[in-house]
Amino acid sequence: MSPALKNGLLLVMLIVVVGVAGWFFTRAKKGTALPTKGFETHWMCEKCHRDFKLTPAEYQEWLDSKDKLRRDPNFPARVVVFWCPDCKAYSVVRAQLDPTTDKLVIERDSSGNFVPLATPKAPAAEESEKPPQ
Ligand SMILES: [Zn+2]
Repeated sequence: MSPALKNGLLLVMLIVVVGVAGWFFTRAKKGTALPTKGFETHWMCEKCHRDFKLTPAEYQEWLDSKDKLRRDPNFPARVVVFWCPDCKAYSVVRAQLDPTTDKLVIERDSSGNFVPLATPKAPAAEESEKPPQ
């Protein structure tokens, strides 16, 4: 093998390695690993009650964005709060779909406080309120 051929082969190998590495990194950057359909989580604005459905890809996009996620050291870091475009405030918190009422309920507000669930009226209370005859 002549030195020129050897150098040529080395160069080809180098180009292939760089090409594969480049392909790998651009592929990873696009975040195609996260599903863009299904597995949606519910989020709701505690002020205007607008609901947001986020796919895992959208959720990651909001987390990575500079303006959609509240980054405030005064609030608990574990409570994720997003920006509401209607209220112009960080007021969108995680919500759960109540299977009995089919309505969205918030477990924690944007300050990290637990939100007490609305307690349904006890049916027995009506009878005891009847005036004695
Ligand atoms: Zn809102």
